[in-house]
Amino acid sequence: GEIRLEDLDGVGRITAQKLRAAGFYSVRDLAFASAHELAVVLGSEERAIAIIRAAQKLVNRGEEFITARVLFEKRKNLEYISTGVRSLDDLLEGGVEVGSITELIGEFGAGKTQICHQLAVMVQLPKEKGGLNARALYIDTEGTFRPERIIQIARAKQLDPEKALENIIYARAYNSDHQMLLVDEAKKYIESQNIRLIIVDSLINHFRAEYPGRENLASRQQKLNRHISQLHRLASLYNLAVVVTNQVMSSPDIFFGNPMKPAGGNIMAHGCTYRIWLRKAKEGKRIARIIDSPKHAEKEVAFAITEDGVTD
Ligand code: ADP
Ligand code: MG
Repeated sequence: GEIRLEDLDGVGRITAQKLRAAGFYSVRDLAFASAHELAVVLGSEERAIAIIRAAQKLVNRGEEFITARVLFEKRKNLEYISTGVRSLDDLLEGGVEVGSITELIGEFGAGKTQICHQLAVMVQLPKEKGGLNARALYIDTEGTFRPERIIQIARAKQLDPEKALENIIYARAYNSDHQMLLVDEAKKYIESQNIRLIIVDSLINHFRAEYPGRENLASRQQKLNRHISQLHRLASLYNLAVVVTNQVMSSPDIFFGNPMKPAGGNIMAHGCTYRIWLRKAKEGKRIARIIDSPKHAEKEVAFAITEDGVTD
């Protein structure tokens, strides 16, 4: 069964209570904690480091160093959620990868929210149809989630629309603190509710609105970094896929090439494993391009948005 916090050397009943109150529910949570944030809870950096180390040893079972061959074998068993669009699955070499953060970037109307809706349905399908037989958690920061759209997409995928709606757990985030709180709270439900996909649409708009201008840039980026770490942790701890959306902004300092760039700077660029840039093309078509990928060649594919959802 699950190892309890109290099973760790140096963690008694009182400390365990403190840790739970601060959002560290399992040994895995501690193994992925940073010494700095844990020191705030425990009042001692030395103690924090000792507890994190003990947790890491338990979680890794002494296998921190592995050969690339073993890693290769592990990656062969990686799971994907199909986007339900052949061209996008090709671009992603199978779909959205479990354990990673996939970022959808694009201007208003590019199709980011539509893809999020579709993935919230796709994750529910059985494995042989590209899903994970699981549920989605949808964090909506812009108020653009539409259950009516889920019904249309579910019908197109031969799913019972009522069940499809039941299998999406929805929360509206009112500001960036609330957004981070929701992600923290999510930990309590992930396993019992069989959640394998977390969507944050959009990741960044509250942060941009609340921390405008150059004078707030450092604090905004620091907080955004914490938020992305939170999501990374959930992705690897609970073996689920995270999909976030991001806006583009014009950068006045670029004179040649594309004057638009993804918001969130380096923190977003380094924080998200796979980045897909969406744009509108002629006759209602959309183009998706994968950028900065550690494993994919840069390439572009086309897709469309119809009554049935996102399609080839
Ligand atoms: P964003 O990137 O801003 O999140 P969206 O994902 O909301 O963009 O995409 C909006 C576009 O999706 C609309 O401009 C429209 O073309 C298309 N769309 C939305 N719903 C439907 C529908 N039921 N049938 C066809 N197209 C739709
Ligand atoms: Mg949107």
